[in-house]
Amino acid sequence: MHIHSCYSDGIFTPSEIVQKVIENGLGGFSITDHDSFDGIEETFLAIKNREEKIYFVPGCEFSTNFDGIGEIHVLGYFRDSSFIKMKELINSLKASRLERALRILDCLKMHGIKIELSEITHGKNIPIGRMHIARHLVQLGYSKDTSSAFEKFLKRDGLCYFSRDNISIEEAIKYIKAHNGIAVVAHPTFLYVMQNWNYVDKIIALGIDGIEYKHPKISDELSRKIKEEMGSHLLLTGGSDFHGDGQKDCIGKYSVSLETIRSYLG
Ligand code: AMP
Ligand code: FE
Ligand code: FE
Ligand code: ZN
Repeated sequence: MHIHSCYSDGIFTPSEIVQKVIENGLGGFSITDHDSFDGIEETFLAIKNREEKIYFVPGCEFSTNFDGIGEIHVLGYFRDSSFIKMKELINSLKASRLERALRILDCLKMHGIKIELSEITHGKNIPIGRMHIARHLVQLGYSKDTSSAFEKFLKRDGLCYFSRDNISIEEAIKYIKAHNGIAVVAHPTFLYVMQNWNYVDKIIALGIDGIEYKHPKISDELSRKIKEEMGSHLLLTGGSDFHGDGQKDCIGKYSVSLETIRSYLG
């Protein structure tokens, strides 16, 4: 339920992802690119060309701001194609990503590292993420892997970190639900530091439908705790947050029941 394609900061095309979904024996999946729905049509086409029956949920991951906590990612899962009407929001989010990428590239230049915007976008209107830049830093030999690139340059407190004006979590939930979707809190790592379930209650009060309790960043212990505390009133989802690179990156490793998802999304 949490996969990134080459239409955001993943490396595989929707067709390649469909192939991996089938190879891994999954009955369904979602593509949740950052601030983009550009891979959805191609995914439906790729599924249509296969004999296997696969359940696909069009999705999107939004970086939002939650007062008191900071950046919280929210996944939107959509019941139909109403998300197409979110174009204006998507374009403004892509524009803010472009602006931040230019700042990062300027900063890297000051540190003697030259990466041109066109090397990343190839002229396409993609939602540029730090992962794109991280991969270039690896390719050019400035970092040994993408994690080290984040560590040195791109993470908060990194040499060339710049924030973005994220939409508020309230707005994201409102947009998703207004377009016939359900809203799910992605990888709630804030629970490690906050240890305060009141924050989850606050997000529930804003209308969140679910929480991602299985994810590479969520320990088994926290996962159990989320299930205990939230299982009765929130949809529990899971996903590998697959981007296509990294040793731990594996489709299907954090799967949830297809029936549960279907019962929610229809
Ligand atoms: P952005 O959307 O540009 O803010 O970047 C967020 C993306 O960067 C996430 O989806 C991850 O793919 C990746 N990311 C964030 N932090 C790290 C990190 N410390 N190491 C590796 N990848 C990261
Ligand atoms: Fe990502
Ligand atoms: Fe995320
Ligand atoms: Zn993600």
